[in-house]
Amino acid sequence: EKTPVTLLGLGAMGTALARAWLAAGHPLTVWNRTPARAGALAAEGARTAATAAEAVAANRLVVVCLLDDASVEETLAGVDLTGRDLVNLTTGTPEQARTRAAWARARGARYLDGGIMAVPPMVGVPEAGGYVFYSGDRELFERHREALAVPVGTTYVGEDAGFAALHDVALLSAMYGMFAGAAHAFALIRREDIDPVSFAPLLADWLVAMAPSVHRTADQLRSGDYTEGVVSHLAMQVAGTPTFLATAEGQGVSAELLSPYFALMRRRLAEGDGAEDLTGVVDLLAR
Ligand code: NDP
Repeated sequence: EKTPVTLLGLGAMGTALARAWLAAGHPLTVWNRTPARAGALAAEGARTAATAAEAVAANRLVVVCLLDDASVEETLAGVDLTGRDLVNLTTGTPEQARTRAAWARARGARYLDGGIMAVPPMVGVPEAGGYVFYSGDRELFERHREALAVPVGTTYVGEDAGFAALHDVALLSAMYGMFAGAAHAFALIRREDIDPVSFAPLLADWLVAMAPSVHRTADQLRSGDYTEGVVSHLAMQVAGTPTFLATAEGQGVSAELLSPYFALMRRRLAEGDGAEDLTGVVDLLAR
């Protein structure tokens, strides 16, 4: 007996989720603002609802995957949510998730928020390693754990409905730092006779080799001792920054992505202890 699922939103992500539930044999009711997008899924066995209200009424488990928080508001305004288990996979801020949780509870629904750590081609492909961060109503999560785990993996991060969005945004923020670093690296080699395709594996391997340093950062943040296990101390790294800036200048590359981080390193050195790791930058940001 597979849990029946209602899904609102058949964009790129919603459609991928729908296919995964259908393939696993879950009865599925779908609704999309533009009805044409539901056509192909109906042929694959989905029930289509004419309105969002009808789709919500069909099943206890209601999954929403729309563009943004405003589209969730617009879609569910006036819809009876009494007794529903509402799972919102729409990307938003932690504050939007908390507000949405209170809003759902006031309408008699249970609420679970999700942050999708996958792109559509990873959905329904367990080897791809995609998952969703969930936060909010733990009972709802436990009750529907199996159905929720069908499209991608599940990682529950706490009762605070905002935590899924916070984890999602934190990971993606770190990713943008990596993208920024890679953009600078490619810019450095651009004018030279260096094949970016030969350079890329060197870059990828280096990023992978450096990634576990986050565990040391975490240990230092927990203990409060930023010299613990230090490998390359702050004074040495700040002394090295002119090399990076001069190299950028020599290659005709703007240092606008690198400079803000170097400025924080220098500020921390000026205020603190050169024997520390780079962890003090976290304090400067989170002050
Ligand atoms: P799409 O742009 O492909 O689809 C957007 C969906 O939202 C469509 O179903 C659209 O309906 C609907 N929609 C937009 N505005 C409204 C509205 N005012 N009222 C009702 N429905 C509305 O986006 P995705 O499917 O890719 O993304 C959906 C969510 O998943 C987003 O929050 C996104 O951040 C998140 N996500 C997406 C990832 C991705 O790689 N695609 C990765 C991780 C998260 P219509 O067809 O009528 O336009």
